[in-house]
Amino acid sequence: MKQLKETHGLSRRTFLSQTAVGLAAATWGGTTVMAQEAGVRPERTGGVKVLNPRGRVPVGIIIDDSTCLVNLNRFAMPQFNDAWGGKQTVYHRRWKEWPAEIPDSFVRRFAEWALDRGVKGKYSIVPYPACVGRMDRGLPGWSRRELEDSLALVRESIAPNWDIHPEMVSHTRVIDLKTGQPYPDQTPAYMENWDWTTGRSAGEIGDYLAYALQILKNAGLSCEGITTPGGFGSRARPQLAQGTLDAVRAVFGAEIPHYFRDLYDEGDRSVAPRVELASALDGDDPRCVVSIVGCTGDWTGGWDCVEPEGVDRFITEDLSQGRMVEVIERGEPAIMVCHWTGVYWNGEERGFKIWQEVERRLRARYADRIQWMKLCEVARYWAAKELTGIRETRTSVAFEAPFACPAFTVEVPSAPGSKAPTLAAGSEVTSLRAVSRPADLRSGTCLRERDRLVACFDLPNGRSELRG
Ligand SMILES: [Zn+2]
Repeated sequence: MKQLKETHGLSRRTFLSQTAVGLAAATWGGTTVMAQEAGVRPERTGGVKVLNPRGRVPVGIIIDDSTCLVNLNRFAMPQFNDAWGGKQTVYHRRWKEWPAEIPDSFVRRFAEWALDRGVKGKYSIVPYPACVGRMDRGLPGWSRRELEDSLALVRESIAPNWDIHPEMVSHTRVIDLKTGQPYPDQTPAYMENWDWTTGRSAGEIGDYLAYALQILKNAGLSCEGITTPGGFGSRARPQLAQGTLDAVRAVFGAEIPHYFRDLYDEGDRSVAPRVELASALDGDDPRCVVSIVGCTGDWTGGWDCVEPEGVDRFITEDLSQGRMVEVIERGEPAIMVCHWTGVYWNGEERGFKIWQEVERRLRARYADRIQWMKLCEVARYWAAKELTGIRETRTSVAFEAPFACPAFTVEVPSAPGSKAPTLAAGSEVTSLRAVSRPADLRSGTCLRERDRLVACFDLPNGRSELRG
């Protein structure tokens, strides 16, 4: 079993397995995970099962290290090297030969491809990339006009299909929130990628996340989640979860904050999202935070423009194998991971070419079985899947939902009769239209099979009832 999340060089595999043992790992849906607080869960009676949205496997792409204009790792590499006193050869790359900019012309082509193909996921905007300049105050080396145009491009062409996340403030040196400047200490203890979060409270980590989120808010962007840079939060997981919940709610008022911290790029360990810190489900202000888990490594060129491992790691040419085939076949969300540095690959666009082929192959085999989703859409679906109360009676299924959810899809065993089921919520009653193929399931439809009814509908928050 291996887990690789970019720690920019230093592999984290060993650390994770030890911690699993040390932290008296809890089971979650039959899988061993970090001992995170799940929070409360609603009562459920009967055999109703919540399926994937529309009965399709969510897929998406997580893009790290992206930001406006700045080629982050061209500036970060020397700072990583300094942090380790020049001793880590992984940072002895020829970064001065790399372009300082990833141009908007490339961002636009990538965004248009994604809009055309319906590709979705998450796109980081590092708020103060490698301490070059702040998105809300200006970037030395670029004009204000260029920055404003770049932010507008993100708002108009990226944000429709991609969640925007900070990662965290600089992705390099930790910023002193009192001065807005990096701390003078340049050792790993004051680098976002490494140990700064260890031993810090949820309040301290939450304040740091809120600072990052506020810069993006000032720059006219909107966020429902955050991405951790490198090992940020890896030894402060409960505090990271609480800090994310508090900061994303405080700065953006998001109903269901989410974060990207972990990935598993092989093996049968679950990559399903984790719904954490659930509370006050039956009140006016239900709360939870969702950890989105990646299921691949970066096989598109990495954070530092290495030789890409290529398309076949995701899905082979004959469409029969690869990590995506493994995860889609077991029905878990298959969220792929990469870095903008490698997608652009210093202008050779090696990662972008790989994504175009991955998308083509997935569509060739799974067009009717997958659904591209933003991380906030996956987070909302999983919050509804885990936190909706369900009570089945002989003639109906009652839902008590803290969170509304589009295309909520349930399987009701041996539902009697043939007439179209209805969904009642308050005085509103909607009939679901019968379809004959699973591929045609979408919100407002149902599929009857010999011993089950599959119903797909927009779940309202509060009370509703499916009547057969
Ligand atoms: Zn990163």
